[in-house]
Amino acid sequence: IVVCKEINIMTEKIILLASHNKGKVKEFNELLSPYGFKAVPADELGIDMEKALETAPNFRGNSLIKATYAYQQSEGKYPVISDDSGLCVWGLNGFPGVHSARFNVDGDFSYKAKQLKIIDMLKDKEDRSASFFCVLTYIDENGEPHQFMGEAKGHIAEEIHDYGNGFGFDPIFFSDDLGKCFGEASSTEKDSISHRGKATKQFLDFFEKKLGL
Ligand code: IMP
Repeated sequence: IVVCKEINIMTEKIILLASHNKGKVKEFNELLSPYGFKAVPADELGIDMEKALETAPNFRGNSLIKATYAYQQSEGKYPVISDDSGLCVWGLNGFPGVHSARFNVDGDFSYKAKQLKIIDMLKDKEDRSASFFCVLTYIDENGEPHQFMGEAKGHIAEEIHDYGNGFGFDPIFFSDDLGKCFGEASSTEKDSISHRGKATKQFLDFFEKKLGL
């Protein structure tokens, strides 16, 4: 009985992460590990997230598509977390928004090319304000989805600030809360105010209440 209980506790601590993105896996594990949870990426359980087509017009819809796909593929064995996130540049009518991961510069998908492209698109614009959004979907053990949203406000810097920290658009996103670029921030600093950090905190509050903690 003791052994079964221990196994039960161990499986409860696994949360299937509906993503292969190494940056997200690292960030989710940093955020969840203090609570004793381990985010196991979908590919480690043989789930190919490339097959979950992100066809929704907003972050909420795409987050739900990914979580539902992973939950179904794992046959409801684990609770699932997915996030859909992206950068909205307000002077560019919210671009790249839900296309943050997929947009490219003449076939070049590298972040450097995308960072330079956004800086270039803003060169004659006064409004450089931007927000990162994250919608986290948690599918519980009964298959019920719950969603949590976080926003980080800031503006697009005039040049790339890449200090080897962060990923994606971090080197061009100047955070209002931190007073510096995400690319210059430590992961602890970024987690404390980031869109993903805020959405995850809401999720953890919900989860603690659910467990009666
Ligand atoms: P998706 O959520 O996997 O669809 O991808 C979101 C896109 O937004 C990716 O291209 C990410 O690089 C970018 N993105 C999301 N969150 C962050 C962040 O915290 N820093 C930098 N880029 C991000």
